[in-house]
Amino acid sequence: MAAPSPNDLLSTVFGFDAFRPGQAEIVEAVAAGENTLAIMPTGGGKSLCFQLPALCRSGVTVVISPLIALMRDQVRGLRAAGVEAHALTSGNTQEETDAVFDALDRGALKLLYMAPERLASGAAANMLRRAGVSLIAVDEAHCVSQWGHDFRPDYLRIGALRQSLGVPLAAFTATADAETREEIVARLFDGEAPRTFLHGFDRPNIHLAFAAKSSPRSQILTFAAARRGLSGIVYCGTRAKTEGLARALREEGHAACHYHGGMEAEERRQVEERFQTEDGLIVVATVAFGMGVDKPDIRWVAHADLPKSIEAYYQEIGRAGRDGAAAETMTLFGPEDIRLRRSQIDEGLAPPERKAADHARLNALLGLAESLGCRRQALLSYFGETRTEPCECCDLCDRPPEVFDGTTAVRKALSAILRTGEFFGTGHLVDILLGNVTEKVRERGHDTLPTFGVGTEYDKRQWQAIFRQIMGHDLVRPDPERHGALRMTEAARPILRGEASITLRKDSVAKAKSAPSVRA
Ligand code: ADP
Ligand code: ZN
Repeated sequence: MAAPSPNDLLSTVFGFDAFRPGQAEIVEAVAAGENTLAIMPTGGGKSLCFQLPALCRSGVTVVISPLIALMRDQVRGLRAAGVEAHALTSGNTQEETDAVFDALDRGALKLLYMAPERLASGAAANMLRRAGVSLIAVDEAHCVSQWGHDFRPDYLRIGALRQSLGVPLAAFTATADAETREEIVARLFDGEAPRTFLHGFDRPNIHLAFAAKSSPRSQILTFAAARRGLSGIVYCGTRAKTEGLARALREEGHAACHYHGGMEAEERRQVEERFQTEDGLIVVATVAFGMGVDKPDIRWVAHADLPKSIEAYYQEIGRAGRDGAAAETMTLFGPEDIRLRRSQIDEGLAPPERKAADHARLNALLGLAESLGCRRQALLSYFGETRTEPCECCDLCDRPPEVFDGTTAVRKALSAILRTGEFFGTGHLVDILLGNVTEKVRERGHDTLPTFGVGTEYDKRQWQAIFRQIMGHDLVRPDPERHGALRMTEAARPILRGEASITLRKDSVAKAKSAPSVRA
């Protein structure tokens, strides 16, 4: 049986749709058995960088980690995903320890977490020698530094363990200063430089931009027209859309073709090859396109539909500008996208915790879309990297958005939702706010509600923009069981109660020409 690829495992075991910045390269090196040192900010996703390779490799991966609670969390998470993982710590019960040896005897153990104190006994080292260990992963590797705050004397035994087992070692830390790195190399790798991964996540040559989706086809055509003759990718949410949009681009005189997972392998290969060799081709594709694409001079990436998560967004825009020269991106998003992505999560088969995490990752992307300040700062901070200055290379740095205090508007919208029993979608709610006596309004008696007609300071488009921002802030979610009726989330309560205020972006709200200006 062929070993599953890292990409397959990423989705089947971990439930993620894309690698985070830096992860793919590290996973590849660790899985290939190289000695590695990876420095990644806290929260960047280090654990995946040894957990996933552990599953690609035969034998057992020993994980040395100083934090017992964290080890237990990881073991629990892995076991829930069907991976044989165990921990050997001082807190183990006899049963737990027996289970470890049982799994070892059966040759089933994949990951064995160990507290560093365990290395002090010769018994543990002997056990590991017999266990068929094929990789050592060291979390919080800076604990080996005698000058650091987190020094753990037992970490000094790891170097000898590596030598006696004769297996590769992968070390991880968030502490990047040069002295600590030198110490890690000296003590864990016996001075022999490992493959080192230390890069920020920023791709400063990529211009970031989002736009509210109004007429997606013409928005994409306009974007492409301004970049005529340059290689680009347009990502679409559905296969059907890729074909239609590619045709529209050709009609405008661009060289364009479509690409999706439903095409014959040979057809797909031809598109890949054309893209690689031809200058100025536009590929209109689903997310199926890109994995194997290694074209350095992709000058732009546009999203006709909102990606699945912030990780997917980063990965997809990251295909542009690999050569370091300027590249541009534009991501369209609208309420339909939000609804679609939410229902994909809700209707999926993932367990509840995973769904909650997926909603959170989508929220992160929506937060980025509705960002009030520099997008790059927002994006990097999600991945744990801080950046003190605005980037000067995103649409919001180019033109800072005008904002207004949207608290009153949001409270009106929320109360329309509550007073109608959280049973309706944006269209009907806007009719109520505007005081439109539609048939549906009359039928339901909604013209007698106190919220009826309280929102005439905005027009229909403006209200739609406000609702979109409300969804972007995750104050309301469409209910998949009620055809996308909007329901309030916990986050909305403080605003409804008058305990919190909310700032909205004016640009999209104030677009309609004839409409009265938005009051600040
Ligand atoms: P670190 O050890 O670097 O501080 P973790 O390994 O604990 O970070 O990961 C931080 C969070 O990121 C976890 O909640 C994890 O589930 C999530 N995560 C890691 N990799 C990915 C990915 N590729 N896509 C989405 N979420 C991820
Ligand atoms: Zn910026």
